Amino acid sequence: MTGGVWHHTACILCENNCGLVVQVDGRRLAKIRGDKEHPGSRGYTCNKALRLDDYQNGGDRLTSPLRRNPDGTFTPIDWDTAIREIAERLREVRREHGGESILFYGGGGQGNHLNGAYKGSLMHAVGARYQSNALAQEKTGEAWVDAHLAGGHTVGDWERAEVAVFIGKNPWQSHGVPRARTVLQQIAKDPARTMVVIDPVRTETAELADLHLRPRPGTDAWCLAALIAVIVQEDLHDRAFIARHTTGADQVLPRFAGVDVTEYAERCGVPEARIRETARRIANAGSVSTYEDLGVQHGPNATLVSYLDKLLWLLTGNFAIPGAMQRHSWVAPLARYDTTVRTTPVTSARMLAGLVPCNVIPDEILTDHPRRFRAMWVDSANPVHSLADTPRMSEAMSALDLLVVVDVALTETARLAHYVLPAASQFEKWEATFFTTEHPHNVFQLRAPVMEPLDGTLPEAEIYSRLVHELGAVPTATERMLRVAARLGRRPFTAAFLLAAAADRRRTIGLAPTLLYDGLGPTLPDGAAPAAVLWGLALRVRREHRDGMRRAGHRTASALFDAMLTERSGLVFTEDEPGDSWPYVPHADRRIPLPIPELLHALDDLPSQPATHTSEEFPFVLAAGQRRAESANTIFRTNQWRRRDPHGALRLTATDAERLGLAPGATALVTTRRGSARATIEVDDRLQPGMAALPNGLGLDLPDGDGGTNRNGVALNTLTEAAWRDPISGAPWHKHIPARIEPLREGADQTA
Ligand code: SF4
Repeated sequence: MTGGVWHHTACILCENNCGLVVQVDGRRLAKIRGDKEHPGSRGYTCNKALRLDDYQNGGDRLTSPLRRNPDGTFTPIDWDTAIREIAERLREVRREHGGESILFYGGGGQGNHLNGAYKGSLMHAVGARYQSNALAQEKTGEAWVDAHLAGGHTVGDWERAEVAVFIGKNPWQSHGVPRARTVLQQIAKDPARTMVVIDPVRTETAELADLHLRPRPGTDAWCLAALIAVIVQEDLHDRAFIARHTTGADQVLPRFAGVDVTEYAERCGVPEARIRETARRIANAGSVSTYEDLGVQHGPNATLVSYLDKLLWLLTGNFAIPGAMQRHSWVAPLARYDTTVRTTPVTSARMLAGLVPCNVIPDEILTDHPRRFRAMWVDSANPVHSLADTPRMSEAMSALDLLVVVDVALTETARLAHYVLPAASQFEKWEATFFTTEHPHNVFQLRAPVMEPLDGTLPEAEIYSRLVHELGAVPTATERMLRVAARLGRRPFTAAFLLAAAADRRRTIGLAPTLLYDGLGPTLPDGAAPAAVLWGLALRVRREHRDGMRRAGHRTASALFDAMLTERSGLVFTEDEPGDSWPYVPHADRRIPLPIPELLHALDDLPSQPATHTSEEFPFVLAAGQRRAESANTIFRTNQWRRRDPHGALRLTATDAERLGLAPGATALVTTRRGSARATIEVDDRLQPGMAALPNGLGLDLPDGDGGTNRNGVALNTLTEAAWRDPISGAPWHKHIPARIEPLREGADQTA
């Protein structure tokens, strides 16, 4: 696996996972290019992928399991000892408090869903019932709304949409749309198409837009409600679609008929004429696709905004037609789309999409409640850094009886762990993501390793297999039968697996990832054992998306599985058609029930809700986590990759900077109700006056080479509060934090 040869792999920095080809020099990714053979990205990348060697080699990699000592230092231990001790500690927690007291967090990130899937076996083995991940501070509100309406995740048809609407979304920087910059430019250049952006900031995407609606920060709900109100009041809604494909319109339409558009326009600060023009363009378009993202999902009324986004396209008939919104196929769904909601054991917070809301995790630990979480398993995630209120999250992690972290580096969370297990990097093992949400050509790529695992590390699939065996969870006879059957061929293996499931369905399904890894895995070519779980997923694709699978040229699940194993640049696993969306709708007669009573009440309450949350003490709206060309998720544990803005400047308008006496490059103190941090000022008139923004991905405590650490920029969650969140989904309002900004006085304590 060395120089001169181009290896197929993918970028792991965002959910688009653009295909790459790389040349390897020793352990370095020496050359990186877009993979023209990748059926989704077709050679496209943004600037960030080309810096991926800074993930592979930039941080201090772990090369041995670590056990924490009472004084906080770590002792390297061998794998057998680590597995034995951790299994014993897990048994102890289960014995004393039950498996449901063990919370599983993470296991996927943007690039390692394949190995993350194996944690399911460990959850089953210890009897865990609760899990969470980053989706539970971003997307669960939208998932809950989707579950109520079309019954599952919906996606736009960006290549064909006549009108593309981006709500709190800047695909130029945050992507999400495949080949985002190319697609945005195509829409912008085509006079027959229209791009609408709803965003307080004049983002790079907004600069390409035909219609930019700039609501005041936090007032998106009024803006969207006014858009729908114009459509309803001017009788522009699609009566035929509503009558044929939906129910409950009589509870929804009168609400919008009663909205005072003039007043709502004033509340959100968007000229009424611009709202009316946009509403008419959307209503009269042949097709509309919309994309809402963290700009609104991390702000006030987030779940209501999701509902209004979806009503916008439903009331205009933009579902299941070319260019409009679609239900789609998956290799594996990333969340549970379910309207039946469980609650957390201590605070009774709603677990939308089956996930514990990130913001309540400390409250589920720092209590004497008998059902509190006592242990936490963290896989490829860094909640101490990435979730709201770092000090309290650290306190919660430190209060656990057991914290185990699986990661490639000693992250901020790993430093608090009782055990740290070193994983092979995403370029050293078989990997894949399950962000298979494209329409109409839905793409999956199994990535082969491009270099051997670093000595001392293991792929997660192997880590979980060892633990599950150490816990004695795998019945020996079943395992032996599956191994023998796998050697005989895939048909005998399928029969043996079904036999095991018939004998003990709960255990066989619960342990399926590990049973596949240990049984089928050794028979797969080129050491691709972690790909074994794809066999189950190929069967799932055949069961759930048979027509699309066959249109993509895969006659059977086995043929699809073989193609997954051999097509190094990825493959189209389903060819979806717009009409495919309807069979996915789970409601009676495939009709979409429009009313969500709780959100209709929220809509009714909108006139009495505050449109601003700032005060004299905290007069700015701070957007914490702005996506920029030089920001990425925190798997880059080095600052080397940033060519400019290495510490993540605090942006605000020239007028505000001047008023505060802050010149570009000056150091300011930014203070919220939770904390303070110092940041370098950058002037950016694309923001609105009264707004400020800090980028995501900084604030890591990086090794200084002397045994200590240096923090690179602002750790955003030292500024955020866990209670500042959406009342329905629990998602934090990170893009709308009241803050104060002032020049840093000489000699002042920056953490005041
Ligand atoms: S859009 Fe950029 S960051 Fe996202 S996967 Fe592609 S190259 Fe990576």
